[in-house]
Amino acid sequence: ASTWSAVPAGPPDPILGVTEAYKADKDPRKINLGVGAYRDEHGKPYVLPSVKEAEARLSALKPDKEYLPITGLAEFTQNAALLAYGADSEPLKQGSISVTQSISGTGALRIGGAFLARHYPNSKIIYLPVPSWGNHTPIFRDSGLEVRGYRYFDKKTVGLDFEGLKADLLAAPEQSIVLLHACAHNPTGVDPTQEQWAQISDIVKERKLFPFFDMAYQGFASGSTSHDAFAVRHFVSEGHHIALAQSFAKNMGLYGERVGAFSLTTTDPDEKARVNSQLKIVIRPTYSNPPLHGARIANKILGDKALYTQWESEVKGMADRIISMREKLYSALTHDLKTPGEWGHIKSQIGMFSFTGLTPPQTKALAEKAHVYMTADGRISMAGLNGGNIEYFAESVDAAVK
Ligand code: PMP
Repeated sequence: ASTWSAVPAGPPDPILGVTEAYKADKDPRKINLGVGAYRDEHGKPYVLPSVKEAEARLSALKPDKEYLPITGLAEFTQNAALLAYGADSEPLKQGSISVTQSISGTGALRIGGAFLARHYPNSKIIYLPVPSWGNHTPIFRDSGLEVRGYRYFDKKTVGLDFEGLKADLLAAPEQSIVLLHACAHNPTGVDPTQEQWAQISDIVKERKLFPFFDMAYQGFASGSTSHDAFAVRHFVSEGHHIALAQSFAKNMGLYGERVGAFSLTTTDPDEKARVNSQLKIVIRPTYSNPPLHGARIANKILGDKALYTQWESEVKGMADRIISMREKLYSALTHDLKTPGEWGHIKSQIGMFSFTGLTPPQTKALAEKAHVYMTADGRISMAGLNGGNIEYFAESVDAAVK
């Protein structure tokens, strides 16, 4: 037998598999609402003008291609922490936030998982919302943590199951780790309100849980980076020590550049230095040091007042276009087509995704009959809709549910 004859075929990735099917479809009306990448009003990938400008300025400097340090471009990581924690953050002012560059959000989550598995002394259990981004479970399982779930989404109301969430966090063993989506929850598009975040913070305190925030969409949810950082900043101001994974894939459109950061708030600069030394020991044998180009771009934008202002308005432009698609889809379904069912959640959900409530057979029919592709759980990327395809999409949904 050959060496690999016993290797079983693994299942295709549930999200990236949707794109494969879309690419193979030859119908001109086809729509891909599977992958979470922003598309402009013509359905095309969008390179932010602020990113183009930052790249032009960088290339004029003819920079070298030397290795970065293990924890990445120091100026970038400081700017990333400032963006997330805000200038008023106590641990930031005290210099007690340990931060490293990461291979986008995924890499940040993985560094965090590996660091907690090795050094968090109190528990090896991490609670994820049900449902959560599909990659969370394998990331934390492969990091050496035990993955459990807390209730999050209520299918009946297509909203937050806040009672279930509170009950499950109250019942979790003390000092367990809890993963929280900072904003624009993926896949549901359902976020806690600010009052609910305050209650979650109280429960986390009462049960001595360790909060790990995944912030992959800062600015993308509301159009304002500080508004979207509310949960993170509230927890820090309440005295929690947190872990934070940041991604610049969505808010800067730097998907393939793999720009992110992982940080931990610590008690003082000495503790920070020790934590930092251990982050390096996690990273060095994994990928040695992070990529250079994207971090330089993000750093140019974050570090230059005019470019930063321009970028914030471009983030808002993306968020606003998505919000306008929510309104158009809602009104097409409820007013124009009188599609059976309640569609208010399309408008109230937040961020890139909408959990439509479409069932697996309906999503299958949409792909086969209408050439419309989405994940089997009925999640659609709102950014895949535009003036040119939204009517066809609404009609296809209408046909699928009737
Ligand atoms: N967390 C969540 C919730 C996400 O939706 C994503 C992107 N789909 C990520 C993390 C990480 O993405 P990336 O590694 O591309 O930054």
